Formats: sequence, structure tokens, C-alpha cells
Amino acid sequence: MQIDWPTIRSGDADRLHGMTIDISGWMIPLDPQADTVDYFLLSADEPCCGGCVPRNPLTSIEVHAAAPLEPQAEVLALRGRLVRLIDDPAGWRYRLVDAVPIDPPRAPQRRFSRRAFLASGAALGLTACAPGRFAGYTEAHAETTQTTQAAQPAQSAQSETAPVWQAPPGTLTIDMHSHGGRVIVSRNPVIGANRPFIPLAAPMRAGGMNVICLAIVTDTTVTRVADNRKRFEAWREPQSGELYALGQTEFQRAHQLVEREQIRVVTNTASLMEFGPQGQCAIIAAEGSDFLEGQVDRVDEAYTKHQLRHLQLTHYRVNELGDIQTEPPVHGGLTDVGVQVVQRCNALGIVVDVAHGTYDLVKRAADTSTKPLVLSHSALATHPSARSRLITPDHARVIAGTGGVIGVWPSSGTFRDLHAMAEGVKRMADVVGVDHVGLGTDMLGFISPPVFTSYKQLPDLASALLLAGFSQAEVGAILGGNYLRVFQASVG
Ligand SMILES: [Zn+2]
Ligand SMILES: [Zn+2]
Repeated sequence: MQIDWPTIRSGDADRLHGMTIDISGWMIPLDPQADTVDYFLLSADEPCCGGCVPRNPLTSIEVHAAAPLEPQAEVLALRGRLVRLIDDPAGWRYRLVDAVPIDPPRAPQRRFSRRAFLASGAALGLTACAPGRFAGYTEAHAETTQTTQAAQPAQSAQSETAPVWQAPPGTLTIDMHSHGGRVIVSRNPVIGANRPFIPLAAPMRAGGMNVICLAIVTDTTVTRVADNRKRFEAWREPQSGELYALGQTEFQRAHQLVEREQIRVVTNTASLMEFGPQGQCAIIAAEGSDFLEGQVDRVDEAYTKHQLRHLQLTHYRVNELGDIQTEPPVHGGLTDVGVQVVQRCNALGIVVDVAHGTYDLVKRAADTSTKPLVLSHSALATHPSARSRLITPDHARVIAGTGGVIGVWPSSGTFRDLHAMAEGVKRMADVVGVDHVGLGTDMLGFISPPVFTSYKQLPDLASALLLAGFSQAEVGAILGGNYLRVFQASVG
């Protein structure tokens, strides 16, 4: 929902407490030394000198961004959850949490440069332009910033009373499905593969996430957002070689990202167990096998050349391998090529992921695969609906029947907050057993912001799982142990 500044000024925004809103304004970073900021003010008015801080709590709001942003000198459009503050010691009335910039990404040109911002002196003299109460505010938040930089996970409002997950010894936390760091090539052909990365290792470290399945997407250029931003659809046929080339670019980008972030790529269970506890790791994954263009030998090439170890058969395009949940069936499930790809994955040591596939596709994949299957990101449907990405209990049971794992995702269309998501994990565990449930955040893959937007939230999710009734050991299984079992069985 788009809201304007008069709604903030009048206090009408009180009724939007807890809701996801869109709002535009001027970014005022409070840390002038930072190249990127995840805490700043958003102001109704353009700052006069780039450093002047507004004093009226009704003309600006506090922002906690989901991921650090570069300082912006142009108007910034943000989407986040609005929080009404009561008796805030700094006097602020509203806070926007888990805020993300709304596409299209802002061009990097600035009306005033960072150098000019610093040179103005205003940035360094924030408290000087903000008398009285505001001076105390700035100091208080300077402390907060330091605490956050000491790699403390983000605190939730309930954290004083919420149970704390103590990871059992040897536990590795694993996200079964992630596009973290903004690994996907932009849909915008001008930005394309030059889309700037955003930090990935730091939020993983802050939240205690050890390993992610870092998924490239290879149908981006032929899919688009449809149905009033509710879903993606394929809108044209790719040219011969186009999606193979896109795959090469995307794999290359994934490797650039992990190098930049000093994240270690793990290619087997031994390296996962060795490096997982030491720092942040990635398993190279692909969402959709569109880059194969139906050529099974390209699975071998991706395994060898790009270190692919987790392959999702289909995505938003009915490809050569089979049918998808969001379009009418064409093949009656998994195709013969799909069968060969599953067999090749089994032989080489690649985890087979059937997310986005139809129930018929999943059944044939389960009959074909000699290894456990993964369905990396979905949730149980409360009622069946056409073209839904959610799954029925029977669909989930087919995965569990292979010994596999279903990753529960944090879609805000399915769950209103992390507690509802934890209840969704519980419902899934009630259907298939706790050994067959995992976490698939689909980080940076949603159209609308999900309820889990940063790895910093992992302690809060673990706490919500404990509150939902899982034991400490069960939370360990859900947050990584179950996927590790499948990875070991599939990859070796
Ligand atoms: Zn997906
Ligand atoms: Zn995804």
C-alpha cells in the first residue's frame, strides 16, 4: 500500500501499524562515515545541505533497511513494515522495518556527492543542527549502531521473553533456496549482469546462517511479472542458445559474488563439514534447468565447470523437462528428458529439486530418482487453488517418501509473520514428519517482501520454531540437519 506524508503527519498512519507500506522520501544517513547504511531517516523534505537532520517526528520516519543501501541523494521509494512507536525515547512516531528499495533500482547519480556531504560539515555536526531532545537521540542511536556492528543478531520486540535456540553441537544451518547477494541477473536488459551485488556474508554471519544453496535463475529474460504483480509467467519463446548463454552468465555471476563476499563454495559433504562451521558457505544451485535447453550432457558441464550441486528441474516456464504449477500442464508431468536429467544428477551427485513442478512431475521424479528429492520452497495449501505454488499433503508425502525434504518458505502471501511461518512448519511436520522439513527462504526472490528478509532474522525464526513446540534438536534438523542428510546421500 502506497502512503503519503500527510498520512504520517496527521497520525492516520497509526491504523497501518504492522502493515507493509510503500513510501517515498529523502534518505538522511546518520552515520556519515559509512559507504552503505542500514539505519537512516526518511524525510518528507529534501535536506537543505545533505546533512541537516529534521527535528519534527512527523516529517520523517526511522528506517531499518533489510540490507545495507548506498546513500541516495535522489528521492528513494521504500517498501517495509510500518511500526507505530509508543513513548519512543527519541520521540519518533514511526519506524519502517525490513525496508527494501522498490524497483526500478535508483540510478547512481547524485545531486550532491558523498564528498560534498562530508565537506559540508553538517554530517559531522548532526547534533549541532538538532538541539534538545534530538541530541540525546543521536547519541543513543550511535550506541545502537555500535552494538549492531558487533555482529549481534537483530533483536525482536519479544526477544527478552522468547526462548533462545542453542544449536546442538555439530549443527549446520542451511538455507535450501536463496538468491542472496542479488545473484540473479537483472530483468532490465541495460543493467543485466552488471546489477550491483549487495552484502551477503555479513548478514549470514550476523544471523548464524552457515550455508546457502545459492540459486541462479535461467529463464529471467523470457519471464515477466503478471497478474498485477502476483506471479511470473513466460511471455515469449527463447531463441536457440539464449538460455544456455544466460546460464553461463548467471553461473559466472554466482562465482563473482562468492569471491567478493569470501564465501566458500562447497562441493561435497567433506568440504561442507569442514568449512561450514568456520565461515559462510554456498552450494551452487540453479532454479530451473532452462539453461540445458533439453541437452542432458550439459548437466555434466555445469557439474564440472560451474560446480553445480543442486538443480531445480523447472521454474516459471514449461521447459523441456516438464510441467509447472503456475501454468496448465503440457507434458503430463516429467518428460523423458526430465527423467534422463534426474538420472544424470543421481549419477554425478547433484541434489534434485522439484520445486515449481506439478504433482504429476513430482510423482514421476520420485519413481525415477534413486536419491531423496528436495522441494526447496513452498508451504502446505489450506485449500486447493489453481496455479498455486503451494502444495497438498499428498504432494508433500511423495517427497517425504523418497527420504527427502520440503523447504518451508516465508511468503507474506502465506504467512503474516515469523510466528505464522513457524506454525506453517509445524503443520508440514505434522503431515510428513519433522525429518522431512527444512527452510527455503527464497531470499531476494519474492515480488512482495516476505516475512524473512534477512539472515539476521534467523535467531528470531529459531525462537518462533521453539515456541511452536519443536525441541532444540528438532529446530537443528529443520534449519539444516535434514538438508545435510539429503546432500550427503545425493552428492557424497
Ligand atoms: Zn521459486
Ligand atoms: Zn527462487
